[in-house]
Amino acid sequence: APLKRQLTETMRKHLSPTIFQLLAMIGEEAGQLSMRAYLIGGMVRDLLLEKENEDMDIVVEGDGISLALRLQEKYGGKVRRHDEFRTATWTHPSEFKIDLTSARTEYYDFPAALPKVELSTIKEDLFRRDFTLNAMGISLHIDEFGELLDYFHGFEDLRKGKLRILYNLSFVEDPTRILRAIRFESRLNFEMDSQTERLAIQSANNLLSVSKPRLASELVKLFYEENPCIGLKKLQKLSLTPFIIDTPAEELLAEKRFDLLYQWQQDLNKDDITTHRSIWLCYMFLLTTGRVKDLSSLDAYTLTKQDKEVLSDLSSLLFSEASLNLSNSLSQTDMHIKFASYQIEPLLGFFTLIKVGNKNSLFQYLLKRSKLKRKLDGKDLKELGLSPSPIFRKILFYTETCQLESPSLTKTELIEKVKMKFSLN
Ligand code: ATP
Repeated sequence: APLKRQLTETMRKHLSPTIFQLLAMIGEEAGQLSMRAYLIGGMVRDLLLEKENEDMDIVVEGDGISLALRLQEKYGGKVRRHDEFRTATWTHPSEFKIDLTSARTEYYDFPAALPKVELSTIKEDLFRRDFTLNAMGISLHIDEFGELLDYFHGFEDLRKGKLRILYNLSFVEDPTRILRAIRFESRLNFEMDSQTERLAIQSANNLLSVSKPRLASELVKLFYEENPCIGLKKLQKLSLTPFIIDTPAEELLAEKRFDLLYQWQQDLNKDDITTHRSIWLCYMFLLTTGRVKDLSSLDAYTLTKQDKEVLSDLSSLLFSEASLNLSNSLSQTDMHIKFASYQIEPLLGFFTLIKVGNKNSLFQYLLKRSKLKRKLDGKDLKELGLSPSPIFRKILFYTETCQLESPSLTKTELIEKVKMKFSLN
């Protein structure tokens, strides 16, 4: 018989008292409705890895919606129900959200199709998951509270740092799991076991039949949430880039670009400047040969308006590359005139890609620009007796360039410069 693991103490130690209590409550209420509730997925994995994770996924053998309604009746909060999957989200009065799902099993009409679903047992529910370490549950039922459900040896894989799929056709049925495997390898510093890795390589061409937005929702996590350089190395090790990018760059080149962009992100971070999520598309672009036409093939990967803006900025930067005269040595003012209207993310992507020798001075400009705190604003201009007009923008832009050139200028000195430049008095 498999070893029974009792995790109540681990849960008490690593979960907040509120969450621990909520879990106990959910188990108890489910029991009263003659259902069994289980905590499953990422939170179980991260509990065993002692990593924080408050995404509470509950699966019930029974009806998730009735359980949610009962919890709401007793403890308040709100319920959002999704009737087709018998699933509900219960928002606890403290605003904490809990997903309550009815145990179900999935089957696929054809590989890479979206799954069809029917209700079933917890074991079958866990079997439809991606990797053994994500396929564990913890019982919340009062008689067996805290018992680990580990039908597929996830605990052992987790201890050995292995990612293992649950059945051989797993990657064929859902090729996005290949990207998930890479992501977990990168995030947890784990490795696929040899069979899983072999099947990932064999199934890689199935990635071609997955819609771009589905690929994008995995890739964004690989290139935004994790260290993208590790993600890239893993993609390359399995020769996966040709399946996510039409015109891949040479591997070493892509690696050098990734290293540079990531280095710059880290340097910005030291000054508390964070780049937004859409930087992931810059990484995608760095995977390609880096031409304008590669940009248009990335259109299908955009998930948000911000994503689209990054692509369109990159494209106008690339179009104007020749006229920007980047090989000359440029003053802070020159650079500000050329680049002030662009966001930091596309600029970082663009500077990574271009072939000029003085990339670092471009980056230093970006760094200064991001740290710049305007010493003069519209109010100050009004106090100088100016009435608001388009010249305000010109003046304020001029003060920015002055501050970039000489960061130590005082407000008084700036005002003097403005008066001179714009012949005010
Ligand atoms: P994260 O911390 O990034 O949210 P997670 O493990 O919670 O990691 P999610 O993408 O939120 O990941 O998925 C929640 C759970 O659903 C996972 O633990 C996994 O078991 C399951 N899952 C998600 N996507 C798939 C998939 N494509 N195939 C099978 N199971 C999946």
